[in-house]
Amino acid sequence: MRPHRPALALAVLAAVLAAAPPAARAVEPKTARRIDAEIDKNLAEIVKIRRFIHMNPELGNREFETARLIAAKLRPLGLEVRTGVAKTGVVAVLRGGQPGPAVAVRADMDALPVQEATNLPYKSLNPGVMHACGHDVHSSVVLGTALVLNAVKDAVKGTVTFLFQPAEEGPPEGEDGGADLMVREGALDDPPVGAVFGFHVWPEALGTVLFASGNVTAAADTFTITVKGRSAHGARPQEGIDAIVIAAEIVTALQTVVSRAADPTDPTVVTVGKIQGGVRTNIIADRAVLEGTVRTMSEASQKRVRALMGSVVRKITEIYGAEHEFEYKTGNPSVFNNPELAAAMTPTLAGLLGKDRLVPWKPQMIAEDFAFLARKVPGLYFFLGVRDPAQRTMPPLHSPAFSPDERAIPLGMRVLSHLVLDALETQSALASGRQGP
Ligand SMILES: [Zn+2]
Ligand SMILES: [Zn+2]
Repeated sequence: MRPHRPALALAVLAAVLAAAPPAARAVEPKTARRIDAEIDKNLAEIVKIRRFIHMNPELGNREFETARLIAAKLRPLGLEVRTGVAKTGVVAVLRGGQPGPAVAVRADMDALPVQEATNLPYKSLNPGVMHACGHDVHSSVVLGTALVLNAVKDAVKGTVTFLFQPAEEGPPEGEDGGADLMVREGALDDPPVGAVFGFHVWPEALGTVLFASGNVTAAADTFTITVKGRSAHGARPQEGIDAIVIAAEIVTALQTVVSRAADPTDPTVVTVGKIQGGVRTNIIADRAVLEGTVRTMSEASQKRVRALMGSVVRKITEIYGAEHEFEYKTGNPSVFNNPELAAAMTPTLAGLLGKDRLVPWKPQMIAEDFAFLARKVPGLYFFLGVRDPAQRTMPPLHSPAFSPDERAIPLGMRVLSHLVLDALETQSALASGRQGP
């Protein structure tokens, strides 16, 4: 479990949540009906915007037109809009008609370097760039949620910060960016938010939401191991130090770091994804480079794996008299859904969807930089089914054929609108000492 250190302004909320798990505070029926009416009213436009963003995908830290479009849509409505946050990010603050706490909703805006291979009428016009991870849907759904909540803002008890984040897939080489930079640039600070919500489209049936308390995704780190041996004639190995043989032993030994040293109940993956070395058939290689990724759910496992890898590399190279370099870079932490917030929001989700459409999420070893937001304040991240139920399967995320079913858009707007209103209501009730029945 990742210990949270909520900012001072959140301390009261955190303490009260921990002391008394709150009862669900469903959105009033009248407000719920207004939300549905606003979704109906805005849906055609949001789908149009989603298709426009899909046709004009932009890579991480280059989301200039996407950001411009979002800011241009929200500014005239009176939201306080900041642009250029974490390079190309947009932060839009909606002040509700009634006083209360603040919560945030986050969408990512970046596309991938993938050549689209669909036959959609709105396929990418940008060669080699595609919204293959569905961030076009995320941006549109969160924009749509902002329009809906703005239209019912007299019923909004507090403030909602909408975050449109660049570079979730990682910034370009040598650049800073993503959710981490959004946090460092204060996106959650003004006003200080008490909870943050986010979601991802997922190849599950339309109408379902997948969600779990606790671990959602893994921490994703990368490593580079360089073995430095000594070159010699391929027929006179006794005169060299063979970096390739040493590298092979390291690859094998790394498998036992997971199978023999990691706790089997605490998921851990070590993958060597790239190996390079050598010059030609009859030369002993003086150098081999291994690159890979480490995925862990807990900080304990992350620390242990890192230390063990270091000693495996050091000891194996030592046996052969080789030198080495071991570079380990920590990346996205694990996305961790705050258990108190998850418990408080589960009845909202179950009420909206019906129990059989709220599907338990099985933690995955994928990475998602929402983790940086959820580490700063209590977070809740869920997955929205976008598979046409008439199809048994659909191309996965990052595939050139990925095509989420747009009929999920209104449900995404509905779920986020309810989560936000419910979280504001729950927080203000708790802060003022009123307890639910
Ligand atoms: Zn992705
Ligand atoms: Zn994604």
